[in-house]
Amino acid sequence: MKRVLNFSAGPSKLPLEVLKIAQEQLLDFNGNGLSIMEGSHRVSMFEDVHNETIELIKKIYKVPDNFKILFVQGGASMQFAMIPLNLAKNKKVEFVDTGIWSSKAIKEANIQGLDVKIVASSKQSNYDHIPNEIHFSDDCDYGYITSNNTIYGTQYKSFPKCKNLVIDASSDVLSYEIDWKNVGLLYAGAQKNAGLAGVTLVIIREDLLSIADEKVPSMLKYINYANSNSMFNTPPVFSIYMLNLVLKWIEKQGGILQIQKINEQKAKLLYNIIDESDGFFVGHSKKDSRSLMNVSFTIKGGDEILEKKFVSEAIKHDMIGLKGHRLLGGIRASIYNAISLNEVQSLCEFMQKFNKEHS
Ligand code: PMP
Repeated sequence: MKRVLNFSAGPSKLPLEVLKIAQEQLLDFNGNGLSIMEGSHRVSMFEDVHNETIELIKKIYKVPDNFKILFVQGGASMQFAMIPLNLAKNKKVEFVDTGIWSSKAIKEANIQGLDVKIVASSKQSNYDHIPNEIHFSDDCDYGYITSNNTIYGTQYKSFPKCKNLVIDASSDVLSYEIDWKNVGLLYAGAQKNAGLAGVTLVIIREDLLSIADEKVPSMLKYINYANSNSMFNTPPVFSIYMLNLVLKWIEKQGGILQIQKINEQKAKLLYNIIDESDGFFVGHSKKDSRSLMNVSFTIKGGDEILEKKFVSEAIKHDMIGLKGHRLLGGIRASIYNAISLNEVQSLCEFMQKFNKEHS
């Protein structure tokens, strides 16, 4: 069996242990004589997994009791529309624009004809940092941020204050402990740190559940998910099952704090190589905004031929997924939870060798 070093931005690497359990259980889940994908979602075979997954999230992520955990389909992108539909009671919403994913969320709020204010933005400098001064108004329905910017490789080090802070944590969910004090809603598509595409995790404070107007379609109302334990219709059973396995894997690693510690070590290794390369590698993000999840950088001032060569040479060393996002170019190494310190070490060695051969 060949397994490559997978630095893809998402979908991305899953822990090998998780894949092996899924493989083992694929044809016969726990002696039931069928796969979890093949059974009804209304029988205990699945319901137990479903409920355990919710409990695991609460425990591992230390989610306070006044929050509900919901599983929604439609990806993170559907939340761009669902959030304003559900939470914009007074039609006054505020955003920080830190990249393409924030911009898409802003666009959806604008489609709904809301009073949309961008309170801070790093667009002027091609989204190379998280703005310092962020002030949300006291009377806005919610203030919206993207905690980690997958393309540009920037990440908040602490969250701005807002009575109802909404966080798109699609690319850094379950990678550090959250201070839930200000949070109204945190959501994430699962396909980076939490398993497979198909399920979006929505963690919402209970008082925000029932704001939605009657005219909001049923499938787009959070309250319907909350009242039905996220079984308003058939849930994405296999994605929830995989999320369950990933959560147990996180527990086995020692929990979120331990994961966070390793993530910090991984990122430090990689950023050190960039910083000590004498300008051969240049990180896109300003230092104080650097992401622990996505490391975006250029080679020799954005030499596209050399960057192409870097990507193809990396593939020869069984390292894939390193081509930067088409909007930014350059190189991007995504080092989500499932990527080990050793794998990052291998990438660092490759980068040093490449630098030596081409500078
Ligand atoms: N938000 C962020 C921060 C993302 O990185 C992505 C996808 N890469 C999305 C939203 C959109 O996710 P989806 O494809 O699940 O709609």
